[in-house]
Amino acid sequence: MMSLAPFVVALALAQPTDPYVRSRVDSGDTRTQCLYWTTERVTWHQSTYGNPETPGDSELEAMRRSFQSWQDIFAGCGNLALVEGPLVNEREVGYRREGDNRNLVLFRDRDCSVVVPAEDACWDEDTCANEYDCWEDDDNTIAITLTTYDERSGIIYDSDISFNAARFAFTTADGGTCFPPVTTNCVATDVQNTATHEIGHFIGLDHTRAQGSTMNPSAPPGEVSKRSIDTGSRDFVCAVYPRGRASQACLHPVMTDELPAHAKAGGCAAGGTAAVLPALGAWALWLARRRRREEGRE
Ligand SMILES: [Zn+2]
Repeated sequence: MMSLAPFVVALALAQPTDPYVRSRVDSGDTRTQCLYWTTERVTWHQSTYGNPETPGDSELEAMRRSFQSWQDIFAGCGNLALVEGPLVNEREVGYRREGDNRNLVLFRDRDCSVVVPAEDACWDEDTCANEYDCWEDDDNTIAITLTTYDERSGIIYDSDISFNAARFAFTTADGGTCFPPVTTNCVATDVQNTATHEIGHFIGLDHTRAQGSTMNPSAPPGEVSKRSIDTGSRDFVCAVYPRGRASQACLHPVMTDELPAHAKAGGCAAGGTAAVLPALGAWALWLARRRRREEGRE
């Protein structure tokens, strides 16, 4: 994916350097509402499949440590509880308006470009990932958080985190940096490092280039610094989810859409009145290419 590199750089340069940046209905547009949860408790689930490439259940444990790091901050100054629900045998991300909607965390270890026929309609519909249980997004993306929210209020309904195990060798150990195929007792792409960043998106944080931020959009191989949540991101929790008070919107008054109670997913009209479907937003953690590797490709 050589052609993508300039785009990634441009994207990175466009990031602000504020201590934290809230996600918006339209990313970066301060005239639009910020994204945030308004419930007291948000339950998240891991897919039972886990990641076969990491030893035992270490990837599930790493994920728990990441959520716990955020939960520790919420416990001190916040109004939200991040609670792990049981493992679920589920492989579909996105919001289900009816039935069992879950905030899901999963690893995709098959590349859609390998397992999905080129002529399949899912490519145009962006549904290959769910239909074929594969990684559909860009090759250089380490993980992605897909959030469904109300377009007018910014209130989040659902957030799901997918890891690109088709391309990246995820590790859960400590130690020096390693490169596949060697992934024992060393750090290639650290699960906890990646998850802590993605959970930031999960609760409404966008990227920032602030020095040392967990929400920095790039992550070089061997990085573990994002396991520890920086001061700016901590301040976000206390300010946006203040203890004993309501979660904070950015624009007032907060306009909400009346979602039709009986609308089916994919349908957008009920009883003759147009209903607005929840919007989707996706944020990713990118691979920071090593200079040496880039030079080697030129
Ligand atoms: Zn990100």
